[in-house]
Amino acid sequence: MAHHHDHHEPQGAALTRAAQATLEKSGEQWTTMRASVYAALAGFTKPASAYDIAEAVSQEQGRRVAANSVYRILDLFVGANLARRVESANAYIANAHPDCLHDCIFLVCDSCGQTVHIDDDALTRGVRSAALSAGFSPERPVIEVRGKCAACEHPRP
Ligand SMILES: [Zn+2]
Ligand SMILES: [Zn+2]
Repeated sequence: MAHHHDHHEPQGAALTRAAQATLEKSGEQWTTMRASVYAALAGFTKPASAYDIAEAVSQEQGRRVAANSVYRILDLFVGANLARRVESANAYIANAHPDCLHDCIFLVCDSCGQTVHIDDDALTRGVRSAALSAGFSPERPVIEVRGKCAACEHPRP
């Protein structure tokens, strides 16, 4: 479903390496804690809340990790393009292309929560220029489409 024409989408260990490289390029360190939060985030197949991620990190580390510190790290990840916030779900998702900047469009299934992302730079450029024409400085277009994924719309008998 993801339409990427001009760049590849790393996965698994390759995605983690790309995320680490991007964070370090931004002048931040890839600490053990940040690595754990990233691993937990990337391990979710759906957008996860800071609490979900704190829970996963706590279990993995065998000690209580506060949602607050996880939230700060997620904030850092979003700023560095390692993660995206899915606003309508109040949750986070690992950015599939940390080394490449797009205004991602999220398709969020209301039945199962599955969220896929597509990139359509012509469309998002249009949104940005429409905002500019209205005298508004766009910083981050948020385009999320709620509906039903193919699996929920056409369940197998
Ligand atoms: Zn994207
Ligand atoms: Zn679904």
